Amino acid sequence: MSFERQKILVLGGGYAGLQTISNLQKKLSFQDADITLINRDEYHYESTWLHETAAGTIDWERGTYPINKVVDTQKVKFVPAAVTAIHKDEQRVETNQGDFEYDILVVALGFESESFGIDGMDEHAHTIVDPETAIAARQEIEKNFANYRSSGDEKDLSILVGGGGFTGVEFLGELTVSIPELCERYAIDKNKVKITCVEAMPNMLPMFPENLVDYAVNYLEDRGVEFKVGTPIISANEDGFVVKADDEEQQIEANNVIWTAGVRGNSLMEASFDGVKRGRIVVTPDLTIEGYDNIYAIGDVAAVMNGEGEDARPYPTTAQIAMQLGQHTAKNIALTLNKERRVPFEYDDKGTVCSLGPNDGIGLVFGREIKGRKAAFMKRVIDSRAILQVGGPMLAYSKGKLL
Ligand SMILES: Cc1cc2nc3c(=O)[nH]c(=O)nc-3n(C[C@H](O)[C@H](O)[C@H](O)COP(=O)(O)OP(=O)(O)OC[C@H]3O[C@@H](n4cnc5c(N)ncnc54)[C@H](O)[C@@H]3O)c2cc1C
Repeated sequence: MSFERQKILVLGGGYAGLQTISNLQKKLSFQDADITLINRDEYHYESTWLHETAAGTIDWERGTYPINKVVDTQKVKFVPAAVTAIHKDEQRVETNQGDFEYDILVVALGFESESFGIDGMDEHAHTIVDPETAIAARQEIEKNFANYRSSGDEKDLSILVGGGGFTGVEFLGELTVSIPELCERYAIDKNKVKITCVEAMPNMLPMFPENLVDYAVNYLEDRGVEFKVGTPIISANEDGFVVKADDEEQQIEANNVIWTAGVRGNSLMEASFDGVKRGRIVVTPDLTIEGYDNIYAIGDVAAVMNGEGEDARPYPTTAQIAMQLGQHTAKNIALTLNKERRVPFEYDDKGTVCSLGPNDGIGLVFGREIKGRKAAFMKRVIDSRAILQVGGPMLAYSKGKLL
């Protein structure tokens, strides 16, 4: 079997990009292809753990590892660089470390925060989208709690979470653990802390059955979280959110404001491709872009449809699907190099677990409902499995959550 030595360029070292790389390096030899991975940082971070960093239940380093630890440097060249432009017709990518040409391109540049045009949200609220933003949110809360001792300002102890979706709920779960610790550290009466979650939709967590949602809400309410559901946020300002409740605009005051309700694909997508909506491009069943069968778009920059025709909808963007897309892309690239037909992607949905802090959660796994400690354990298995798949048992042992 002989392959032409093609230039394969993978952009982004998140779940989708690293799965592509780890599977390519298993499938291909140095003679088959010249493989380059470009990622903004020298390390990979577990995006699905960022709410823990933001709440302060783990240090940010805990959910990161050097990319060079998982790259086979005999086969793959890793370049830490920021991609600044993709020129699809010239088969060239610009970065802050120079230009890179390719024969086959894999775009896996992940997600950004999306404020849906809510006035003042970008200026006044923290987000949880990468280690920097998660650390900033954490530092803001810590600074305000420390400040309360001299200010006596109740807003310093008020935390406002925009969005009661998956990320919002997981973040609230971590706060119920970290805030009592913070109160102890700064000798603050924990009953003075106010945690409020504002959700525009009347129902939270639509991916779970009602009884599991009730369990999550009751669990968080018992630990001091107040929910305002069916309450749209009109704007954000330096005092918190202006919301619409009972047909009236109300100001909810807080000095700790975190927006968790919206993500979109990387904005480089709009700048580089046609037909991109909210940073996501619809991909063909083999995960390439229409008209460019040498360009794959995977992970949060891709809209992967669950079928064909008018009723087809994109699958929700998650780490679970991002990893499967990475594996499939590596398979299709190997088939292409071997002059075989690419195969369509099929999503294997194994379920979802939403944590409520480190010791509780809710989940639907292989169609079965789970909650409580069982769900928390399953979440640790899922978190560790992602590392095991890319980095093997040693990395899973040192970075995973099972020990
Ligand atoms: C707090 C939180 C909790 C979540 N929990 C879950 C969960 O429990 N389960 C689940 O399935 N999903 C969860 N998600 C969603 C999940 O994290 C994303 O769907 C997943 O990270 C997408 O993978 P990706 O590879 O597309 O992007 P990412 O993992 O974001 O990776 C993108 C990579 O590209 C790099 N990059 C970005 N721009 C550039 C550039 N210009 N140049 C170079 N490199 C760049 C980034 O640094 C990053 O390394 C959660 C998300 C958040 C924020």
